[in-house]
Amino acid sequence: AKMSSDQSMQLEAEYGAHNYHPLPIVLSKGEGVWVYDPEGNRYLDMLSAYSALNHGHRHPKIIQALKDQADRITLTSRAFYNDQLGLLYERLSKVTTKDMILPMNTGAEAVETAIKAVRRWAYFVKNVPDGQAEIIVASGNFHGRTTTIISFSSDAAYQRGFGPLTPGFRVVPYGDLDALRQAITKHTAAFLVEPIQGEAGIVIPPDGYIRAAYELCKENDVLFVADEIQTGLGRTGQMFACDWERVVPDVYIIGKALGGGVFPVSAVAADKKILSVFEPGSHGSTFGGNPLGSAVAVKALEVIEEEQLVQRSREMGAYFLEQLQAIDHPAVKEVRGRGLFIGIELETPARPYCERLKDLGLLCKETHENTIRFAPPLIISKAEIDWALERIRAVFQG
Ligand code: PLP
Repeated sequence: AKMSSDQSMQLEAEYGAHNYHPLPIVLSKGEGVWVYDPEGNRYLDMLSAYSALNHGHRHPKIIQALKDQADRITLTSRAFYNDQLGLLYERLSKVTTKDMILPMNTGAEAVETAIKAVRRWAYFVKNVPDGQAEIIVASGNFHGRTTTIISFSSDAAYQRGFGPLTPGFRVVPYGDLDALRQAITKHTAAFLVEPIQGEAGIVIPPDGYIRAAYELCKENDVLFVADEIQTGLGRTGQMFACDWERVVPDVYIIGKALGGGVFPVSAVAADKKILSVFEPGSHGSTFGGNPLGSAVAVKALEVIEEEQLVQRSREMGAYFLEQLQAIDHPAVKEVRGRGLFIGIELETPARPYCERLKDLGLLCKETHENTIRFAPPLIISKAEIDWALERIRAVFQG
């Protein structure tokens, strides 16, 4: 029996833990950039599941790859080899230029994997005394929700009541090179950073910061680890946001859109001198590297190339940003973005604006109170952006 939107929302509210505050809308079908509720209303998705839907909903080639693989084998565990994982390794190695890959499922797991890798690298390669490795992170960071990851969050709401927290992290202000320089000690293993901060509100660091931070790390034998889970795979108009400053980080962390919008797939990519710190038994995941996810991820990477989604993101993003910047409204503090990764920072809470946009058929979500994030699927057309702009202008200009 088909349920109404109200019934679905009621059911979630009755039995679900209340760790989210969703907009009151139920999605029961999606295709490309469009989603539909059970009553048949159509909405343009400008959140893209926090950039996990770069290919849009149910991309036909990705769904085909999913179905084909589902008809063969879906899960093996890493106790055995499978005939898809190697193909994913090969593709990811090409895309990242790194010679070793470690597959996981969710973003947070890949971040945890990177943390374990750089700590071991510090002890085994850099000769930091056991138990004393330090990782530097940036204020405003968002890297996931595990106990260790929230331990170095600068947002009190992410930590409250979850202690004791994991030690070994230092927080420096995002974009502040001197602070990074001062925080580095002979025990520093790595600097873990988002090249553009997504959850913090599409925060773009000063020009040259990523490049200079990378070089500072090189001078001090510190690994530069880029969390490209949200910014990677074309979102910012480059394959990786680090490309904007021609930086190839020591470690890439990738997730979200790697799963093609259908399946959680994440990975850490780095050279052997780093990832060979893992020996059998030191790390793993039951589902990580499964053949279903691998087949989907290979196809997701292929589609990005075939459909030139990186270039599309850059071109469509530039147009969208320019049009948004032309909106004149006293509540708008700043409109900023790279590629199809755009934030409108307001002087006031963003939620009421998101609610009004929803009523007009445009889905987006506030991030950090005052910022509206626009991150549509990268397959979006100019006509669809114009459709969105009409609604956005209606909300801001009446
Ligand atoms: N890192 C970044 C930069 C993210 O944006 C996110 C999710 O929003 C994560 C890590 C965590 O990913 P997941 O929710 O898949 O664990």
